[in-house]
Amino acid sequence: MFLRGIFEMADYHKMWEDLGMDLETHDQLCEVLPQAFGDVYLSQENRPESMDYYDFVVSEIHGVRPAELVEHQKNGGKVFGTFCVYVPDEIVFAAKAIATGLCGGSQFWVPGGEKVLPSNTCPLIKASVGARLDRTCPFFRIADMYVGETTCDGKKKAWEILAEDVPVHVMDLPQMKREKDIKAWAEEIKDFKKVVEEVTGNEVTAESLGESIKLINDKRRALKRLYELRKNEKLPISGKDVLLISQIAFYDDPTRFTQMTNKLCDELEKRVEEGVSVFPEGTKRILLTGTPLAIPNWKIHNIIETSGGAVVCEEMCTGARYFENLVDETQTDLDGQIDALANRYMGINCACFTPNRARIDDIIRYAKEYNVDGVIDVNLKFCSTYDVEGFLVERELKKAGIPVLGIETDYTDSDAQQMRTRVSAFIEMLEK
Ligand code: SF4
Ligand code: SF4
Repeated sequence: MFLRGIFEMADYHKMWEDLGMDLETHDQLCEVLPQAFGDVYLSQENRPESMDYYDFVVSEIHGVRPAELVEHQKNGGKVFGTFCVYVPDEIVFAAKAIATGLCGGSQFWVPGGEKVLPSNTCPLIKASVGARLDRTCPFFRIADMYVGETTCDGKKKAWEILAEDVPVHVMDLPQMKREKDIKAWAEEIKDFKKVVEEVTGNEVTAESLGESIKLINDKRRALKRLYELRKNEKLPISGKDVLLISQIAFYDDPTRFTQMTNKLCDELEKRVEEGVSVFPEGTKRILLTGTPLAIPNWKIHNIIETSGGAVVCEEMCTGARYFENLVDETQTDLDGQIDALANRYMGINCACFTPNRARIDDIIRYAKEYNVDGVIDVNLKFCSTYDVEGFLVERELKKAGIPVLGIETDYTDSDAQQMRTRVSAFIEMLEK
């Protein structure tokens, strides 16, 4: 019902022009995306009907949602662009503003980033900087303020470059999880609240924050429900489709996203009752762990799911790290709510932290809960924190008797064939 025909995008050139975009270069991006999406997604068989909605969102990715954000700004609202799952969207929505993810997942933007960053920077950072400086992504043009964090070194320095072009607020994320660090994060959230209030002119009250905590928790509940369905022996949905949904979660209107995801889950529950699976019996169940897979990075899922495997869980920021653990909804005053936010967000296990044993525990727990045959630890090139942590992750998985394959990749397709060979060999080895 949503589909006017995938990728017959309405004409948004006027909006893009008003946003100061480089239309000519952007048109090149609009030309390659449909082919990539068609090859990876539309070639799948027996997809759930409710995937129509997400297909539509992707087909209009630089149109429909940006137009909504522009409309919000015309009505006096503000938009905050974020790059990390530690930044609490709840504060933004509580000030009647909108938070939107800005992580770049396409090689298209990498050369733009390389103009100002060393080439041995992770592609996610290069693509994010390139998307802004080359003026080829409407989301990067629309955001009134970017919210950075002190997670990895590359990002910390990238904020300084971006701040010359757009207002940036950086949140100082502790790198350990002692009680004093959680308190420090609560203070940082309070400072962020002040900044958001100043930029929007709207006060964050206990009432508005209570509402936004519920709003974002509802989104987490819907994603958790979706993931629970992947624990079934017969998989009602592919890993690729779930990845797309996780990626869209960072951009979409949260209320609509939650509704659509719950609608999809209703359909999937029926599929489970009827024993419908999108994979043939015997398909090997794979858990992916590692660095985030920002849209439109679908490479590893596509390779696994066309090589005899099915991705059943992602221990990633575009995955379980995004929705695991809810914010306590019982707090009624601002201090209590901010402490609840600090506690929930500091429960995320990113490799930027030391020590980070809880991430390994998560991976082993998920491996059991999702009944996986093997784990693939996939890291973006030049991400040293995840790369170094990979040693411990892989050693502990082996100790637990869980087969694991480590892969390093970037946004280009140059390693696709080699990756396919390694993934196929790993999956074949699982057969034995
Ligand atoms: S991997 Fe770490 S730094 Fe990157 S988005 Fe996730 S939590 Fe943030
Ligand atoms: S993938 Fe690694 S290097 Fe890249 S932004 Fe995330 S934490 Fe930083």
